[in-house]
Amino acid sequence: MSFASLLRSPLAACLAVAVTMGMTTLPAAAQVAREAQVPAPQDAPYPGTITLRVDAGDTRQGIFRVHETIPVKPGKLTLLYPQWIPGNHSPSGPIAMLAGLKLSANGKPVAWMRDKYDVYAFHLDVPAGVSSLDATFEYLSPRRGGFEMTDRMLMLEWDKVSLYPAGYYSRDIKVAPSVTLPAGWQFGSALETATHTGGTTTFKPVSYNNLVDSPIYAGRYFKRVNLTPPDGAPVHLDVVADAPKYLAITPEQLKAHQALAMQAVQLFGSHHYDHYDFLFSLSDVLAGNGLEHHQSSEDGMGADYFTAWADNAPNRDLLAHEYVHSWNGKFRRPADLATPNFNVPMGDSLLWVYEGQTQYWGFVLTARSGLWTPEQFRDALAMVAANYDVNRPGFQWRTLEDTTNDATAAHRQSLPYRSWQMSEDYYSGGQMMWLAVDAKLRALTHDQRSLDDFARAFFGVDNGSYVTRTYTFDDVVAALNAVAPFDWAGFLKARVDALDPPLTEGLAAAGWKLVYTDTPSAYEKQYDARRESPRHLFNFAWSIGLTLDKHGEINDVRWNGPAFKAGISTGAKLVAVNGQAYSRDALKEAIAAAKGNQAPIALLLKYQDQLQTVSIDYHDGLRYPHLERIAGTADYLGQIIAARH
Ligand SMILES: [Zn+2]
Repeated sequence: MSFASLLRSPLAACLAVAVTMGMTTLPAAAQVAREAQVPAPQDAPYPGTITLRVDAGDTRQGIFRVHETIPVKPGKLTLLYPQWIPGNHSPSGPIAMLAGLKLSANGKPVAWMRDKYDVYAFHLDVPAGVSSLDATFEYLSPRRGGFEMTDRMLMLEWDKVSLYPAGYYSRDIKVAPSVTLPAGWQFGSALETATHTGGTTTFKPVSYNNLVDSPIYAGRYFKRVNLTPPDGAPVHLDVVADAPKYLAITPEQLKAHQALAMQAVQLFGSHHYDHYDFLFSLSDVLAGNGLEHHQSSEDGMGADYFTAWADNAPNRDLLAHEYVHSWNGKFRRPADLATPNFNVPMGDSLLWVYEGQTQYWGFVLTARSGLWTPEQFRDALAMVAANYDVNRPGFQWRTLEDTTNDATAAHRQSLPYRSWQMSEDYYSGGQMMWLAVDAKLRALTHDQRSLDDFARAFFGVDNGSYVTRTYTFDDVVAALNAVAPFDWAGFLKARVDALDPPLTEGLAAAGWKLVYTDTPSAYEKQYDARRESPRHLFNFAWSIGLTLDKHGEINDVRWNGPAFKAGISTGAKLVAVNGQAYSRDALKEAIAAAKGNQAPIALLLKYQDQLQTVSIDYHDGLRYPHLERIAGTADYLGQIIAARH
């Protein structure tokens, strides 16, 4: 995924060789730039309508077959494969999965050449007398995990299965899409159907922006559930599942999901969609996605989301999070993220609003709707808070705002020392900050106003519109000042733009404190047990400072924590604990036995074929986070998660 860095490094290497050899023929930067041939986007209508046909019938081999017909005029043309995908916040377009590209006009082949410096750009000359260009190619979806197609369901993201002409704003390009699905499958999408013949559905033409923003989830086992709030625009849950039994929804579950739609509309006082569709995959095979769109979202959970409800509290904030993005992220968007097309780099610096406040409302709306109990909300928040209490030493060298670069810099690869490197902390660090803002607004206004008022004023304008409205840091500050005058610029900068930001202080301001006990919360126990929890990780981050899986493989070692100081590396395998073969319980018992005394925690590790014995000098026992009321203070947290009527 690091195409940008891969592209740059060979050039850098060549320049370095030339310099050391004393050569004087280095290309000037301007000369290099002149050779780049991708036309800059202009805000002018692209003439004609592109026809895009996608055959998604080959689910067994994971192949999407694409036939695109593009109105053209003779001369130079550049076709682009989308690179900067909204919501990914990074140049993540899977260009390597495009194969078999063939261009033709009037039945004759047309040659293409990829740009020298931009692997997402294909140049060609449209011959004289040609007004229509045919492009065919395949998009080869991942075949070893990360599945986008199974024999029971698929996700179709249009940016992966289309090329578009360079030189235009993508909102100025019109596309008439169609899809062919396996026989008998049903689908959900924000797109409007025009015609349906055989297995092929043709949609009403939309702008290329709207197309990329309107994926399709389809499946053999499908159910459409109505969540529309009273007097509201239509909201539906379009569920595809691994088997029919996973589609069963109890009346209580239905009520909570309907409450989610109602509570969100209550919060924002508006909607920014004609109709909204949660494209919801319940699968243990399909990739578990979470991607926001204006009028829909892609949401993936385990197959037993409904059927094992009592054990499934972790990550149940997903639907709320992605739904909030319709207001925060899609409708209101940081100015540097609102780019003219999908191949202009995005600026991620305000993601602590876009993602951070969405993370905040995602938790809050999950509780307000009853998808979480107040206790589950607090236990989930305690785990977030504990990370910012002890598990982010990286704030000694980088700021919360600097982590907005991680989507591009680290593109979610596994990191050896995550607590020190950090990763996309603008989500949860931002969430902790917005809790502090909410509590501050309540204190400043003697409980008269809150972050609800900010949300309604900032995201709730232009009811019914889904034309993106951009904002800057100053706009955020002005909107907060309109709710309650204060030095908001200083308050925000002290948290997003400073080292060692006070990100956990919002808890106390909301009437609660973070405590640790030797017993995990019911929520954390579920978190450890979940199939989709990352690699079944057992969390000892808050005690000896590591996480590991059931096989003993160490996933992360907290920088400068007790395990780190003992010399343990991420990636090592824990073989034995105090002479006992490793198990989670054996490690727990050893940590508990060393509490308050000098007893060592002796670990036998295997790493790179070497065995090593280390002793961890740690005597504070097992530590799991919980929230506890601060007596005599206002319970803002309780007020924040109370359902609105
Ligand atoms: Zn998000």
